[in-house]
Order: sequence, then C-alpha cells, then structure tokens
Amino acid sequence: MDYKEKIEAIINRDSRYDDMFCYGVKTTGIVCKPSCPAKKPKIDNIELFDTPEQAIQKGYRLCKICMRHTNTIHLQHYQSPCGELLLGSYEDKLCLCDWTIEKHHGRVIRRLQKTLHADYKETNSDILNETVRQLDEYFAGKRRNFTIPILFVGTDFQKKVWNKLLEIPYGKTVSYGELARMIDMPKAVRAVANANGANAISILAPCHRIIGSDHSLTGYGGGLAAKKLLLDLETVHPHTLFDE
Ligand SMILES: [Zn+2]
Repeated sequence: MDYKEKIEAIINRDSRYDDMFCYGVKTTGIVCKPSCPAKKPKIDNIELFDTPEQAIQKGYRLCKICMRHTNTIHLQHYQSPCGELLLGSYEDKLCLCDWTIEKHHGRVIRRLQKTLHADYKETNSDILNETVRQLDEYFAGKRRNFTIPILFVGTDFQKKVWNKLLEIPYGKTVSYGELARMIDMPKAVRAVANANGANAISILAPCHRIIGSDHSLTGYGGGLAAKKLLLDLETVHPHTLFDE
C-alpha cells in the first residue's frame, strides 16, 4: 500500500482501510482512522502511522469521534507457591503474568493500558481460566509446556528476546550471553538482560531460566527465592519424565 493509496483512502473515508493504518493531524495532534467523519485536514498536515500505538508514542491523542471505544484487559490474581502473580488477558491472548512484588509492576500495568487503549476489569475470561489451570498443573509438576496464546507488548527488540525465551526448554537454563547469541546479537548482553527483566509474561515466557554465566541466579522480578523454587521444580520434575 503506497502513500497515494493511503491518502485516497483518507479522502474517500474508506473504512476498509481502518485496520491497516491511521493518520495523525500535525496541527491538532489528533490521530484518526481513514474513515473518520470529521473534516479532513490538508494533506501536508497528515502524518501516516501503521498503528494508533505508534502515533501515541509520537505524542498524538486518539480522536474522540473515530477512536472512542476502549478495550478491556481482564485481570485475575493467582497465588503461586512462590508469590502472587497478576494475570491479564486481552481479547483471546494472555498479555500479563507478572509478579505483584516486581519493582516495575505499576509501570508495566500502565504501559499495557496505554498501548492497548484498555481499561482493566477484575473478572475472569476463558484465557485466564485456562492459564490458571495450566499454572496449577505446572506448579504440581504435571506440565512443562504452556499452550496459551501470548500477546507481548513492548519494543521490537524486547519481543525478539521474549519470543526467544519460549524456545528454552523446561529444566534447562542459559546465560544472558547465550541468550544474546541465540538472537544473533552476541554483544548486546546488557540490552538482552534488560529486556529479560522487562518480561511481563513470567513463567510462560521463562525468564527464570536465564542465569549468570557463573551459574549464579542473578536477579528475578519475583525475587530470588521464587526463581530458585521454579528452577528446583523443573529439576525435580525433569522433562524426560513427561515426554508424551
Ligand atoms: Zn477521527
């Protein structure tokens, strides 16, 4: 889709393009969908974005006419044997599984809300119910892989690191340096460690399986005792026992 096609979609208020891109109006600081019924700006004042999130990051506000609806993130607390987790689902995906004692917990919550234009509701959802069921099995040593669809909210780099975590098998650990090599950025050890620390889907995206190159536990959002419990759990129930 080129620039001209997008401009035509805006001029024609073509709703078929609403999910494909949006536009900011430089003079008002508002971001709109192509079909917005409000008066159209001068073309020179239009800035195109793939998603409203990108426009928001550049300081735009959502149009009250065409972007009014808000989404819902369903929340549920989960008491694990090593601390409390806050679970969140957005549409049909898990977007949050975060230790409530984690020091950036509040910031994570606000970032999700802003990026997904969502309000929080403490109610369960099918995804949350299934997550609880699978976490129960995991902590009982009866599950080593999760089958919950995950929504990672973060930068492209963070998502790359978090997706790579999903490839580290149950019962295995890797160092930050190894993780950096796994994403073909061997020199980015510090950035990889930061991204690992910012993971908001604990346990399912197993950041607890990342340890220091000297095999020390280093840090963990849920606290070192929680990290030790998780690694011990996976050692006591090595995954060969559960090969289907
Ligand atoms: Zn609008």
